[in-house]
Amino acid sequence: MDRKLLLIILDGVPWRNFRRLFGNLEGWVDSGEARVWKLRSVLPSTSASCYASIHTGVVPAEHGCTGNGNVFRLRHKDVFSQMRDAGGVTGAVAHSYWSEFFNRHPFDHVRDVEYDEPDSATINHGRFHSMTGYGHANQMTPCDLDLFASLTNLCLRFGLDYGMLHSCTLDCMGHRFHHDCHEMDHACFVMDEMLAPFIPRWRQMGYEVIVTADHGQDARGHHGGRDPLQQETALYYFGDANGPEPDTVIDQLELAPTILTRLGAPVAETMRAKTFLSG
Ligand SMILES: [Zn+2]
Repeated sequence: MDRKLLLIILDGVPWRNFRRLFGNLEGWVDSGEARVWKLRSVLPSTSASCYASIHTGVVPAEHGCTGNGNVFRLRHKDVFSQMRDAGGVTGAVAHSYWSEFFNRHPFDHVRDVEYDEPDSATINHGRFHSMTGYGHANQMTPCDLDLFASLTNLCLRFGLDYGMLHSCTLDCMGHRFHHDCHEMDHACFVMDEMLAPFIPRWRQMGYEVIVTADHGQDARGHHGGRDPLQQETALYYFGDANGPEPDTVIDQLELAPTILTRLGAPVAETMRAKTFLSG
C-alpha cells in the first residue's frame, strides 16, 4: 500500500459542535497540523444509511439502506473490499451494523463481537458492540477511550493499513439531552480530550487521520432530513495531501474514493464521486 489511514467517525456531531467545542482539533487547525472542511451527508441523514454510503460511495437510493431498521449485507463494493483486493490489512472498531453491512448479516453476538480473519475479503480484524437495549434512559455505549485504545491495539498487533473507528456516544447524548445544554458541552469536551492523545500517536505510527461524523443533529437532537444542522458536519484531516479551498463543502460520497486513492487501492467503478485530496 502507498500509505496508511485511520477514519474516525464520531456519530451525530453537527458542524457547529465540532467547531465550537473540540478545542484540541481546532487547536491543530490553528497550528497547521490539521485542515478542516464542511462535509454534507447523504439523504436520508440517518446513521445506517450514512455508514453504508461512507464506505460504498453510493447514495442510499442506490445501496438500498433506508434507515436503521433496514440493515443487511450490502452488495456494493466498499472501502474494505477494495483494500483487500489491493492486499491491504483492514480493521474496524465499531457498532455491529458495520459488521453486518460489510462482512456478515445477521450479527452473531458470540462469533462477531471480536474476530481476526486474515483471509477475509473485507474486514480482517473486527471489534464490535451492538448497543442492544439502547434507549433514552440507558445509553449502552462503550467508553470512547476504550474504543480508541482498541483501534491502536489492532494497528500495533496486526499492522492495519486501513482502520475505521465509529463511536455512537455523542449521537446518543444529542438524542437524550439535545444541544443547548451543559451535558452536551461536556460530552464534546470529554470526547475531544479522550481522542487528542491518540492523534499524535497515530501520526507517529505513520497514519494519516480523518475525523468526521456520519451526520449532524438539529437543536432537538433530530436528524434524517435535509436541515443543514442535520446534514452538515466537519471533516478534519491530518496528512500531507493537497486539499480543496477552505470554504469547500465535501460530499460524503467523496470519502470512499478519496481514502482508496490515498492508500493506493483501486476505486470501484460504482464510486463515481470525485476525490477531495490529491498529491
Ligand atoms: Zn448516526
